[in-house]
Amino acid sequence: YDLREEDLKDLQELGAGNGGSVKKVEHVPTHTIMAKKIVLIDAKPSVRKQILRELQIMHDCHSNYIISFYGAFLSDPNICMCIEFMDKGSLDGIYKIIGAIDIEVVSKVAQAVLEGLTYLYDVHRIIHRDIKPSNILCNSKGHIKICDFGVSGELINSIADTFVGTSTYMSPERIQGAQYTVKSDVWSLGISLIELALGRFPFSDSSSDDDDSDLSDLEGTLSPSRPMKLDLQPRPRKDKNSKEAKRNKRKSKGVSLQGGGMTMSILELLQHIVNEPAPRLTPEGRFPKIAEDFVDGCLLKDPDQRNTPKDLLQHAWIVQARESKFDLEAWASTF
Ligand code: ADP
Ligand code: MG
Repeated sequence: YDLREEDLKDLQELGAGNGGSVKKVEHVPTHTIMAKKIVLIDAKPSVRKQILRELQIMHDCHSNYIISFYGAFLSDPNICMCIEFMDKGSLDGIYKIIGAIDIEVVSKVAQAVLEGLTYLYDVHRIIHRDIKPSNILCNSKGHIKICDFGVSGELINSIADTFVGTSTYMSPERIQGAQYTVKSDVWSLGISLIELALGRFPFSDSSSDDDDSDLSDLEGTLSPSRPMKLDLQPRPRKDKNSKEAKRNKRKSKGVSLQGGGMTMSILELLQHIVNEPAPRLTPEGRFPKIAEDFVDGCLLKDPDQRNTPKDLLQHAWIVQARESKFDLEAWASTF
């Protein structure tokens, strides 16, 4: 495809995230339906061209678990990427419609994501860096694929310079400033799987007496590639139900710090990820033991103990998912 802006007809808005938006479009000359992602970046022309060159690696990414790439072009001041359109959208949208996702489907999601991550790393030495339900897409054939991986170093840098968006799927070691590794993606996968299986973001605090405590929507303010240097060292666990803890929580919620544009809630969440035990697939007994065991393995706080995506492909739950006859196409036809 020789993609040009004027050959693309807008059909529908698909969504917007940090630093960009996505539209369903038709490539009129070939009648191909695509998803067009517009990335807002404030970078010099030379940097933009470099990004465009780096994005070409996506032409060489061929896997059933990775979104296909049609091409990218500059559309001043933005960069546009045209990728495979997935007609059932992303898994966050799906669970928000149908509720908690069946654990057997979740196991298929885990398998697909691990296959995709292993392909990206083994073949292209690419680390995804942004695994979360909105970057896991599904179509009516029941295919599950990942998108928005970090192919372009320049793009990662430019995004970090122009806007700050953090994902609350970030691993404890990343929050504390360590380099990204494939194991950071495994943490993000663990959080995502709990979110899908429970139908809610796992760090929302259901034991709390106030109801606005789901922290997944706090967009914001930290750069994934340049973590804040905060003093986020492990400290002894506090009783979160103590009067003092509740008072502090109420006091700090949603309060913006001056200057940094950072809200206390995000800081609280990041501190929570670093200091508190990792979330688990709970309540105990609701999910199969091997699913619990898999998720616990993804959410080991020490990255040295955590497995790589490739190791995890051997886990019994994933082996079972691969052999399962569960019909994802039939499942996808229910919504
Ligand atoms: P985010 O991933 O943070 O939600 P994005 O800008 O990457 O933000 O995507 C916005 C939304 O567009 C996603 O939540 C997803 O539902 C939708 N989307 C992205 N890519 C595609 C695609 N290839 N096919 C269908 N929907 C897509
Ligand atoms: Mg995305």
